[in-house]
Amino acid sequence: MRPGKVDLLFEKVIPAYAYAAFEISRGDYFDVVDEEGKQVGDMVCFNRHEYEEKLSCAYSNVMNKKWLLTEGDSLYTNSARKMLTIVEDTVKVHYSGGGFCSDEYNYAVFGARGTRNCFDNLKLSLEPYGITPGQLSHDSCFNIFMNVVYESDGSLILREPLSRSGDCISFRAEMDCLVGISCCPQHRSPCNAFNPTSLRIKVYRS
Ligand SMILES: [Zn+2]
Repeated sequence: MRPGKVDLLFEKVIPAYAYAAFEISRGDYFDVVDEEGKQVGDMVCFNRHEYEEKLSCAYSNVMNKKWLLTEGDSLYTNSARKMLTIVEDTVKVHYSGGGFCSDEYNYAVFGARGTRNCFDNLKLSLEPYGITPGQLSHDSCFNIFMNVVYESDGSLILREPLSRSGDCISFRAEMDCLVGISCCPQHRSPCNAFNPTSLRIKVYRS
């Protein structure tokens, strides 16, 4: 669990449809709070000193031997090193299968071009840090509060998030990280219950 007494370094609201990026040092913590409920945050994370090392959903699932990751589980990098540990989780349903919505996806599935999407949001959030679009991979995107159900017949169903107003997931950084988060702007599917809203980020030092 997160230590009880910690200093708030900064706090930031990501408005609906928007994005944010921030750096965090090893040993620090950050919360992602769903302000109104049923809002997904697409999160990518890089080793702040070596951008080739980044979050890997595939390795996170394999290293934890499960795909529903929650309190006590760690997210791993593409070098199979611990990157973030989930220290608090009031929802316990997130998607670690990777992926983010994009203009191509919105066109393929909904016939929509030129609308907000997580790929563009993440690209814009990380551009100031020198991250190029080619460095963003589906495998490095952990979908906070996203509710994907794997059925026993092999089908996969995207349902509305279970998060309610004030629900929170809290991470401890196991290395110096650069984090990008897109407040998923998808309004055409149950992903955000057809109504994108805001997220709040809080960064702490213990
Ligand atoms: Zn999205």
